[in-house]
Amino acid sequence: MMASLRNRKLLDKLASVFDSCSRFCDFNTSRQTEPTIFIMIKAYAATTPGGKLESFEYDPGSLAAGEVEINVEHCGICHSDLSMLNNDWGITQYPFVPGHEVVGTIGAIGADVTHLKIGQRVGLGWHSDYCCTCGSCLEGDHNLCLTANGTIIGRHGGFAEQVRASAISVVALPDGLDPAKAGPLFCGGITVFNPLIQFDIKPTSKVAVIGIGGLGHMALGFLNAWGCEVTAFTSSDSKREEALQMGAHHILNSRNADELTAAAGSFDLILSTVNVKLDWNSYLGTLKPKGRLHFLGATLEPLDLGAMSLITGQLNVSGSPVGSPASIAKMLDFAALHQLDPVTEHFRFDQVNQAIEYLESGKARYRIVLSR
Ligand code: NAP
Ligand code: ZN
Repeated sequence: MMASLRNRKLLDKLASVFDSCSRFCDFNTSRQTEPTIFIMIKAYAATTPGGKLESFEYDPGSLAAGEVEINVEHCGICHSDLSMLNNDWGITQYPFVPGHEVVGTIGAIGADVTHLKIGQRVGLGWHSDYCCTCGSCLEGDHNLCLTANGTIIGRHGGFAEQVRASAISVVALPDGLDPAKAGPLFCGGITVFNPLIQFDIKPTSKVAVIGIGGLGHMALGFLNAWGCEVTAFTSSDSKREEALQMGAHHILNSRNADELTAAAGSFDLILSTVNVKLDWNSYLGTLKPKGRLHFLGATLEPLDLGAMSLITGQLNVSGSPVGSPASIAKMLDFAALHQLDPVTEHFRFDQVNQAIEYLESGKARYRIVLSR
């Protein structure tokens, strides 16, 4: 197995430590022909809920046979990184290294990995492993695997020099996508693309997107390229012009009751990407019969929906998490074909706290990416 060769500085450090320490060698894996080399991974971690991210190093241990190590070049900041940082969902473990919209090159591969090569450019999203044996995995719905590992849940994510994941969760980046902009496709992008496949959305469908942030702006581009008539619901007047350029045909105010009333019976599908409570019953009123209100944004407050409108309109209310590796690969090809690079703003990794404040301020247009 190839050792991880990162950069001159690390090699120098390794040479000096190697002489005096035998813990670097692991000869246990049967197919290994060379020892695995352990090097501390440098990352940014918070130690308390909502705390600042600080330099942090950890020992990743030996690389498992089915894993790869990615040298991180770029990493998007998703709102889920913020929610995890703040422990909004009660599942964060500290020290916490965020980052699950990774683009980088393969730096090391485990002994059993055959479909990826050292140096290949890849991406990693929300999931970093799947059981591959449950019904969902066997049906190709890996993103529904109940024991899938989250890249930033109980393990360290991509705000780091390297990140590790099971090879099956890592997807090659096709030519035609800008690596500096592609990271957000691996979480935000697949999340808004997946419903188009799941619900067999047609070019004749009328689809609305609520919230034009990281997820929402990518949804506008995908839906437009899919052929749909696209409506953007935004609470930010300053985004109206850009939303039209990014693929919307119509713009409505997501908090204006009159505009919602005027849109009654309009949409086959609404994708909600906001994490706040809106007047969901009014949104149900904008659906056509058999229409669907689909939640992608992690709204924490319970939905208070009137059963009568669901019954009379035969409406659907649903949600979905990211997408499978196969769907991610399909989405990347679709994005490359239609030149749907996310609209990004870039910060250096050592500016991560500034970047997070900027995202919290609501000023991001439309996805922040940390780049080297
Ligand atoms: P984001 O970039 O912060 O965008 C959220 C958008 O929601 C904002 O840009 C804003 O759009 C709108 N919004 C925010 N506060 C609002 C308010 N008070 N009233 C009305 N609209 C408001 O976040 P993101 O990264 O796109 O993530 C969005 C949500 O999706 C988060 O909850 C995240 O955790 C979740 N998520 C879910 C999945 C999944 O698998 N289902 C995957 C990734 C992320 P306007 O300015 O246009 O109103
Ligand atoms: Zn995400």
